[in-house]
Amino acid sequence: MKHTTTHSQTEPAAKGFSPGFAALGLEASLLTTLEALGYEEPTPIQREAIPPLLEGRDLLGQAATGTGKTAAFALPLLQRIAHGPRQRPTALVLVPTRELAVQVSEAVQRYGKELRIGVLALYGGQAMGPQLQALRRGVEVIVATPGRALDHLRRKTLKLADLQVVVLDEADEMLDMGFADDLDAILEQTPAGKQTALFSATMPPRIASIARRHLKNPVDVTIAREPVKAGAAPRVQQTAYVVARQHKVSALARVLDIATPKSALVFCRTRLEVDEVTAALNGRGYRAEAIHGGMSQVQRDRVMQAFRSGQTELLVATDVAARGLDIPSVSHVINYDLPSSLEVYVHRIGRTGRAGREGAAMTIIEPREQRLLRAVEQHTKAKITVAAVPSLGDLLAKRLERTKASIQETLEAGELEDFRRVVEALSASAEPADIAAAAIKLVYRSHGGERAEEEIPAVSTRPPEPYRSSRPSYGSAPQQGDRARAPRGGPSRGGRAAGTVRVYVGAGRAAGIRPGDLVGAIANEAGVPSRMIGAIEVEERFSLVDVQEEAARQVIEALGRTRIKGQRVAVRLFRD
Ligand code: AMP
Repeated sequence: MKHTTTHSQTEPAAKGFSPGFAALGLEASLLTTLEALGYEEPTPIQREAIPPLLEGRDLLGQAATGTGKTAAFALPLLQRIAHGPRQRPTALVLVPTRELAVQVSEAVQRYGKELRIGVLALYGGQAMGPQLQALRRGVEVIVATPGRALDHLRRKTLKLADLQVVVLDEADEMLDMGFADDLDAILEQTPAGKQTALFSATMPPRIASIARRHLKNPVDVTIAREPVKAGAAPRVQQTAYVVARQHKVSALARVLDIATPKSALVFCRTRLEVDEVTAALNGRGYRAEAIHGGMSQVQRDRVMQAFRSGQTELLVATDVAARGLDIPSVSHVINYDLPSSLEVYVHRIGRTGRAGREGAAMTIIEPREQRLLRAVEQHTKAKITVAAVPSLGDLLAKRLERTKASIQETLEAGELEDFRRVVEALSASAEPADIAAAAIKLVYRSHGGERAEEEIPAVSTRPPEPYRSSRPSYGSAPQQGDRARAPRGGPSRGGRAAGTVRVYVGAGRAAGIRPGDLVGAIANEAGVPSRMIGAIEVEERFSLVDVQEEAARQVIEALGRTRIKGQRVAVRLFRD
């Protein structure tokens, strides 16, 4: 069964629960939490996945990070287990990386606040002691990477006999990382009557095979995407700035400082964010006003009036509040978050560049949302430039440039007689150039030139690298739990098992390489058994493969002769 979705046009009541969420069958305590979080309406994946999951159906969902899929499985999961046994695992969420384990467990905790459900994240690279203690104390939801979950199952420190719900999150990523056997091993130890949900951004045949084996008559949820008609997507310049979550507000302010829009719309996903962002921007000297579904009609009218008259330069809005509002075309649309659906993105950026005028759409994204950005590009058939957040140097240069421009304008406008007299008076004790410099300094200051600013750390404009299992072979081999990877940076990290060397392969993600391709090429071409292959790291433009020392020469020669994904690539011994 394929589900498709359309957006409801109804506005939520100014106060009270979102009718959108209530209609999905969620109980009052969860609705209270969603209200407190400022969620105004379900995202498409939530609208489609929550009802069947609440009914207890298995589900196969195609959704990427950023679509709201965590709440799509977490809310029904919480409702289903809330009235069951406590202090033992009744729900298990398997995720590919440590980063995701932390994020998902925090999200489940947030959504389950009213229900007082305990959540524990289990991942490799974390000390066993606290994990064991927490497991002994008893907890209802486990969010784990497969390697570490299996580790605990083997030690019998994790028991799944009471499990009611299993979720495989980002299943394609888990398979890419070689967790297929681990998943099978874990799922074999779960009770037959449990509910299983599988979410994956892509649906390659390998996912279908897992689904066939582990899901019972699943509901198939794909959010249908209406392709944008040729010429229908707004032609505006689109830029995305990748930044860590904790620097999003500073990044937004920096982007605005550089762009200096006369009027801009800033979109956020939740009411809470709208309020936070508005407060932060006002704190930085912007005239920003919030508009969201929690406000009365009178309040909204007042805000819109102020925006139309130019009294307010920035309108910070949720999608629901902006929908149906007669907002004049703005020079900039800024997405503080990527919206949860492509249609909403197109709708948002359509607020700029109207009637042949130039428009710009800027999006602040977290590293893990980059995948979604590519989907947006495909959907809108338009390039989105990924740029680093402007640096402090860029900002200062921009302010100086602005100062210079306004001085030039003033010079051209003339009528400087009164001021010349001041210069003449000052000339008695100072050089004219110094007097001019002092005056410029004052103008520069008034442009915010000396406001204390911090550098915003740049992040890799690539998807975050996962923490991978340290097992000696990529295929099925003894488990040693997941290993926390060294921080990113160049390919100069250690942590290799003794007796292995690292081989550099001059092709990576950009060429469509996955770890499995390298294992395949090495096993087939070099005739080296997979147990001799260790950790594989696929970066954007290169990959690193750990192989047993004795097999290195064979691997390098064989790979050097072969085409990988149809290309001949440089292969050599990598020296840290
Ligand atoms: P996810 O795709 O699960 O990683 O969620 C992406 C972001 O969307 C998270 O920051 C959530 O807090 C937020 N989010 C999820 N559902 C909603 C919703 N219905 N309304 C507003 N924000 C949401």
